[in-house]
Amino acid sequence: MDTSREPPDNLPELKPGDAFCFNCTPHTPCFNRCCAELALPLTPYDCLRLRRHFNAVSDDLLRRFTTMRRYPDTGFPLPMLRMLDGPGEPCPFVTPAGCSVYKDRPGACRCYPLGRGAAMGKTGVDERVFVVREDHCLGFDHGDARTPMRWFAEQEVTAYNASNDRYMRLMTLTRATGKPLDPRLASMSLLCLFQLDKFRELITRMGIFDRVEADDRQDAIMEDSLAGDEAALDFALDWVELAIFGVCPTLCRTQNHD
Ligand code: SF4
Ligand code: SF4
Repeated sequence: MDTSREPPDNLPELKPGDAFCFNCTPHTPCFNRCCAELALPLTPYDCLRLRRHFNAVSDDLLRRFTTMRRYPDTGFPLPMLRMLDGPGEPCPFVTPAGCSVYKDRPGACRCYPLGRGAAMGKTGVDERVFVVREDHCLGFDHGDARTPMRWFAEQEVTAYNASNDRYMRLMTLTRATGKPLDPRLASMSLLCLFQLDKFRELITRMGIFDRVEADDRQDAIMEDSLAGDEAALDFALDWVELAIFGVCPTLCRTQNHD
């Protein structure tokens, strides 16, 4: 069984105009087979959505559902969704009726059975889309023909991709320095990017709004809502960039983050 939802390099690629036929319903004989034995890394935006889904404290969410690792080359946090122990190692969110967090499921689950790879290009993000065709999945060759763009639109993955691409950019810039984050910056990245409840406390405690250009964003960042969390994560990505590199184009009032 496949153990990842990250697209490996050897999968067939779909170009933007290419189409694939796919249909997945609770009546498909393989229903839920794809929701087990996964190595599923969660992005900051995945954690944002899951935390809001459960109305959870971020410490509890990460402790209950993830195993925390770090990217070896950058040192950034890498929370892996922890499969349950026992037969078949199911995802903690799968039920006989399907995904119990469906409206807030991770981006990789939304993209599946496509996988999306993104890299920094000369003029923006270079996106590649792959078909993840696994033996147990019986959804192929049924249903409408769809392009990757249509599939992603139907799965409402746009906000995930936009945020994940920002995280990818930050990691790419860090990787280019040739050394991973030191422990202090690694811990700060975990708090700011994956624990927005704690990040808001940090904003208040450190008077961060007095130190950067964010006047027009402050209310949105502190609002307790999905849109507020999205604004907070956007700001957190800026703040971590400032902390690592001493400069961030959108936060230019000061370069001192200590
Ligand atoms: S294995 Fe494929 S067809 Fe079956 S439930 Fe999963 S995605 Fe749908
Ligand atoms: S989060 Fe939902 S869609 Fe993703 S693996 Fe778990 S049960 Fe399946």
